[in-house]
Amino acid sequence: MNGDKLLEKMHGLKSVFDEKESELTGLDREIGDGDHGVNMKRGFSAVHEKVSGGTAPEVLKQTGMTLMSSIGGASGPLYGFSFVKMSDVAKEDIDKENLMEMLDVFADTVASKGKVEGGEKTMYDVISKSAELLKESGALKLDDLQALAQETEDMIATKGRAAYFKEQSKGTIDPGAQSAVYIIHALGEGME
Ligand code: ADP
Ligand code: MG
Ligand code: MG
Repeated sequence: MNGDKLLEKMHGLKSVFDEKESELTGLDREIGDGDHGVNMKRGFSAVHEKVSGGTAPEVLKQTGMTLMSSIGGASGPLYGFSFVKMSDVAKEDIDKENLMEMLDVFADTVASKGKVEGGEKTMYDVISKSAELLKESGALKLDDLQALAQETEDMIATKGRAAYFKEQSKGTIDPGAQSAVYIIHALGEGME
């Protein structure tokens, strides 16, 4: 995957989040402030508008900077900073092994910036298991990623706004876990 291919994927996420806006907002309305759909849509609309090309590391870095400056809310700095950090390890031609490294950096960045670990009902629950999924199954299939997001449904949130809902956060998939499914699916598409 070179810079052009990666740019295509990042631009493609605009239509994904246009389509998934109401789903993500619906989840965030249950256990947050109801803006995750709008946040992701705004972020990737800005990426579509502002990120215009370069090598794969450059595209990742520009995507990250754009997400940081365009998404309000907790998810902006977490996703934004993660893309910037992934640009440090990405090769100009990203292969499967390199993608695994990138996903590890994605997880480590969210862990340190969000002070989060597994089982706290956040995007981290999907991101942290995706490298292993790629390693074991050789792909990042939508169904498999969705199953990871599904696991957050029965968790009790202890980070972010959802933590205010305590026990009541049970029964809803974490919005950030759901958006992470789409981002990681896009990164892995065509890498099988
Ligand atoms: P906000 O909560 O500020 O409105 P968003 O709604 O855009 O921001 O994003 C919420 C998502 O961010 C949550 O569903 C969760 O996945 C993620 N999140 C929030 N806080 C943390 C954290 N400390 N660590 C990891 N992820 C977090
Ligand atoms: Mg929110
Ligand atoms: Mg908010």
